[in-house]
Amino acid sequence: MIAGSSEENIELKTQTLGMRILKEDESHSSRFFSEHFWSKTFLKLSLRYPKLKVEMFRFVDVLPSLRTKKEITEHFVLYLINKDTEISNWVRPFLRNVLSAFPISYFFGMMIRAAVLRTSGNFIAGINFEDAKTRLQNLRKEESVFTLDVLGEAALSEKEAVAYQKQYLDILKSLDSFAGSESTRYGTCPFVNVSVKCSSLYSQISSLATEESVSALKERLRPILRLAKEKNYFINLDAEQFDYKEILLSLAEEIFSEPEFAAYPHFGIVIQTYLKNSQKDLIRILEYSKNRNTPITVRLVKGAYWEYEVIRSREKGWETPVFENKEETDFNYETCAKMLLDSYPRILSAFASHNIRSLSAILAYAEIKEIPKRDFEIQMLYGMGNSYKFVFKRMGYRIREYTPLGEFLPGMAYLVRRLLENTSNQGFLQNFITGRMDYSRLLKNPEESIHAKLS
Ligand SMILES: Cc1cc2nc3c(=O)[nH]c(=O)nc-3n(C[C@H](O)[C@H](O)[C@H](O)COP(=O)(O)OP(=O)(O)OC[C@H]3O[C@@H](n4cnc5c(N)ncnc54)[C@H](O)[C@@H]3O)c2cc1C
Repeated sequence: MIAGSSEENIELKTQTLGMRILKEDESHSSRFFSEHFWSKTFLKLSLRYPKLKVEMFRFVDVLPSLRTKKEITEHFVLYLINKDTEISNWVRPFLRNVLSAFPISYFFGMMIRAAVLRTSGNFIAGINFEDAKTRLQNLRKEESVFTLDVLGEAALSEKEAVAYQKQYLDILKSLDSFAGSESTRYGTCPFVNVSVKCSSLYSQISSLATEESVSALKERLRPILRLAKEKNYFINLDAEQFDYKEILLSLAEEIFSEPEFAAYPHFGIVIQTYLKNSQKDLIRILEYSKNRNTPITVRLVKGAYWEYEVIRSREKGWETPVFENKEETDFNYETCAKMLLDSYPRILSAFASHNIRSLSAILAYAEIKEIPKRDFEIQMLYGMGNSYKFVFKRMGYRIREYTPLGEFLPGMAYLVRRLLENTSNQGFLQNFITGRMDYSRLLKNPEESIHAKLS
């Protein structure tokens, strides 16, 4: 055991670091979310009125399919005014009449569409690379790096899947002006990093046909990995629904070991700690990385599909693959992070979270283990946690921003997921919308909460 690594010591260091980060940010806390009026209003209303929130999400979901301003207003009335929400019964008839009258219906529809577009613009950097270029350059000026993501999941046809593959290839070809890398103790870390959603690369991906899915995905992925290798860029395979987990793990193990890729150090995968069996998967990947001789990188996340996994497994009568207590996910996140740091440099890590408690626990442990600050990275989503990004950068850590590119329509699923995270009652981020900044609660050890619930 290394000096100073007792559990109490790590916790003490976590609390001290966490306090320091929260206090350093204090003067900027209003910047945690974008200053945009519409985003703030939307998030605040979602938190205050749960029934309205459900209908707002339904409305946002159908919005891309609505063609005219009138249709937008009609659906707004249908979902938010006519349904059982917290809007007072006294006001409903008035709102319904006013919004149905022309030209109010036209202008209101226009305003709603613009507001939702504006909100998605906070989280999506641009329609395509050219559109996002200035924002990407700004990130670099602010000393952040990025991982680019092409929005859209689950291609519905092979034509669509091939088009996605082309989009990834085009992006890789256009990033020359961002090329370069940073030296670290273990080697180098490329500035350019691209996140790939494999379900967008093969329309028939299915857990009922794992071998076929892996084989088809290898075909689609090879040209992308080849080009990335040629340009010394990093490719990450994002984690998706639980159903695809085995496909993605097998795919990574097989393709990263192919002779042309086996010695390339800039590939990564994702482990989701809301999964009950994530520690088992992590051990499997740690072994794999060790045997490969060239390390891969694990991005550690909690998991973005929690509601989906719970609803789906309940619907099917299956045991849910995810923890159902937030503290268990949080505690598992810290445990997995320690497992990763214990295996450094045979495996490299990226810690993707906006939770200051989770990140402080990791930074405290890395400090005790004397792992250099630039030998792992902190990842956050584009448009979220900006003031914390500054604090971490000032402390000397590398911040990589997960930066989506895409059209409004496929971007909707992404936007809705981000908004759900921001307004979830159990989520760390809701504290910043409500302004409930009780530091000791924000930094509470999740293990303590689990024990408290059990006793
Ligand atoms: C840079 C970056 C890259 C990402 N890449 C991916 C990816 O490839 N795949 C992916 O799936 N996600 C990805 N995510 C999203 C991530 O998984 C989380 O959803 C998100 O970061 C919120 O977690 P948090 O630690 O920031 O916040 P917190 O508020 O601390 O945690 C919220 C998370 O806790 C979990 N949770 C919520 N309620 C419960 C409950 N009742 N019981 C158990 N657990 C619960 C959920 O995972 C939820 O997202 C990424 C996030 C970032 C920042």
